[in-house]
Amino acid sequence: MCAWFSISKAPKANAEDTDKLEIPGGLWTKCKSCSEIVYTKELERNFKVCPKCGYHFRLNAAERINLLCDAAQFEEFDIQLRSNDPLTFKDSSKYKDRIKKAEKSGSYEALRSGIGKINGEKVGLGVFDFTYIGGSMGVVVGEKLCRIIERSTTLGIPVIIISSSGGARMQEGIYSLMQMAKVTAALVRHAERGLPYISLLTDPTTGGVAASFAMKGDLNIAEPGALIGFAGPRVIEQTIRSKLPEGFQRSEFLLNHGVVDMIIHRSELKQKLSELLGLMMKH
Ligand SMILES: [Zn+2]
Repeated sequence: MCAWFSISKAPKANAEDTDKLEIPGGLWTKCKSCSEIVYTKELERNFKVCPKCGYHFRLNAAERINLLCDAAQFEEFDIQLRSNDPLTFKDSSKYKDRIKKAEKSGSYEALRSGIGKINGEKVGLGVFDFTYIGGSMGVVVGEKLCRIIERSTTLGIPVIIISSSGGARMQEGIYSLMQMAKVTAALVRHAERGLPYISLLTDPTTGGVAASFAMKGDLNIAEPGALIGFAGPRVIEQTIRSKLPEGFQRSEFLLNHGVVDMIIHRSELKQKLSELLGLMMKH
């Protein structure tokens, strides 16, 4: 039988690296929202939120883990899983070449998973990395998510999935689409044990990820200003032949329309998540 993913030697990167991760970039960063020039170090001290306008810059998985987990309290699993290119896919370039290019950026899949502590609350974490092929979900992402959910079910701990993804990875075709059902089924088994699942939707959460487990949280929490939706606004406008309202598919619009349960500013995220987990585990 053809294997859907391969196991390589473990890379040098490990949980400890997240503590000393260096964010590349210049001395100054231009805010994408208000165009102010911000001192990069100040931006980093501010959880990568623009101090002038509150715009939330995207975080990669390592930055997200550093933000949420107590110091040195993240044990990562399954870092050795790699895609096997099951369809030998090629469009403008080969899928295998895209993987190599993505790995050069320092990430080794579009999701990192492990068990961490958030203000002392033990939790299973699945964290998407948009820098790796747009955070797309292939077989490895789905498998890693299932494994961390099942591990959390066995340990009797909650799960948080932090999405930042363009959706299913088209280079893996139907194999990537079936991950939507596979991960959702693992979450159902987790819920049957009375264990909570929080979905954190960050910019952007779209496609097959938004259409499955990212919307299945006992609590669906968004970061401010995040793009969240299935199809992009241009596709929808062309389909329904009318203009979409202002702010459509952004967190604030979705909160007003009951799609997400709450929006939490990044500076309060760790504290609020630990409070919510504490409350949910008591009931
Ligand atoms: Zn700004």
